[in-house]
Amino acid sequence: MPGFEIFGDEERKQVNDVLESGILMRYGFDGMRNGHWKAKEFETTFAKKMGSEYCQLVSSGTSALTTALASAGLGAGDEVIMPSFTFVASFESILALGAIPVLVDIDETLTLDPSSVEAAITSKTKCVMPVHMCGSMADLDALQAICTKHNLLLLEDACQALGGTYKGKALGSIGDLGCFSFDFVKTITCGEGGAIITNNKDYYVNSDQYQDHGHDHVGNDRGAETHPVMGYNYRISELHAAVGVAQLGKLDYILAIQKRNYTIVRNALESIEGVTFRKVPEGGEENYSFVSFFLPNEELAKKAHKALGEGGVDANFYWYTNSWHYINGWEHLRNLKPLGNLTNEVRNQLEKLNDTDFSKSDAVMSRTISSLVKIGWTEEEVLERAAKMKAAILSVL
Ligand SMILES: *Cc1c(COP(=O)(O)O)cnc(C)c1O
Repeated sequence: MPGFEIFGDEERKQVNDVLESGILMRYGFDGMRNGHWKAKEFETTFAKKMGSEYCQLVSSGTSALTTALASAGLGAGDEVIMPSFTFVASFESILALGAIPVLVDIDETLTLDPSSVEAAITSKTKCVMPVHMCGSMADLDALQAICTKHNLLLLEDACQALGGTYKGKALGSIGDLGCFSFDFVKTITCGEGGAIITNNKDYYVNSDQYQDHGHDHVGNDRGAETHPVMGYNYRISELHAAVGVAQLGKLDYILAIQKRNYTIVRNALESIEGVTFRKVPEGGEENYSFVSFFLPNEELAKKAHKALGEGGVDANFYWYTNSWHYINGWEHLRNLKPLGNLTNEVRNQLEKLNDTDFSKSDAVMSRTISSLVKIGWTEEEVLERAAKMKAAILSVL
């Protein structure tokens, strides 16, 4: 998954274009920037690559999610349905607006379970936020049907699934809005950065204004611009965007190597009786950043995870007890540890978390191991890794 593995001269060249003029901001200073508009260049290229009308680059994946929600008019008291297995950014981005995160179960896709989503809908629900974890996707047709039926926004968190597709379309481009992260460990990186894509012009214009204090970006005198809406500062710097421009040029290469390496590992694990794989919805193609597989039960999964480490195979994740990605680990959320006050509505919802039944998610997550696919490995190294993985897993079965 990590683009940082192939940081090189291309990134240095793009950053130097910016350093030569010293114009580190993405807006204005037209005469001084030697014609370089790295953020704009990234947005144009990325929108085209994703098959979307519009792209808005921002400072992180988390701020992309908040900006996307804000752009569609979500705010205090609105409920957003999100999965129990995700990165903490999901609930952070919702809470930042005073909106209410409603956590529901995942299924063997490792993403939102459509029946759990439907069961969680109330009169306050405004948005369903599937998170395409570890390179593969939610059942987007099922979720889209639910959203259409109940008039809800579908916001795809594709931060971990750049390059994956569903029925021929780029993940992130299928819902009303899609978000990406370009933090340091993602498929491509800006150092820090994120993006929103959409085909909806209103959402795009709102995003553009919201992420820059409400600036309307009309004309070429920044100080004279008007502020149609209240915004915030989630701008990306031109330096970060420059890194992203170079990394975007490497995306196809990254995806091809990931697929090669994934396939070698997957083939080795396929032959183990007792190992099964995450479900990929029909018509979906992963971005191959992780091989996620199931052991028959929790005890064997824990043993297999331990055996992998002891067998010298790095970068295997047992999310069930990993503090950042599953509800089990989010004590600060479940036990209400904000720095300041929460609204009563948010507090009431979060207080329910300790009593909510997530046994459906537990039954999947307790058996899941995800193995990172790196792009720096040679074919020989992956073959060796795959053999070691197979031996380690067989030793506990
Ligand atoms: C990384 C990530 C984010 C947040 O992105 P940042 O750029 O680190 O803020 C959000 N959602 C998911 C699923 C992620 O993996």
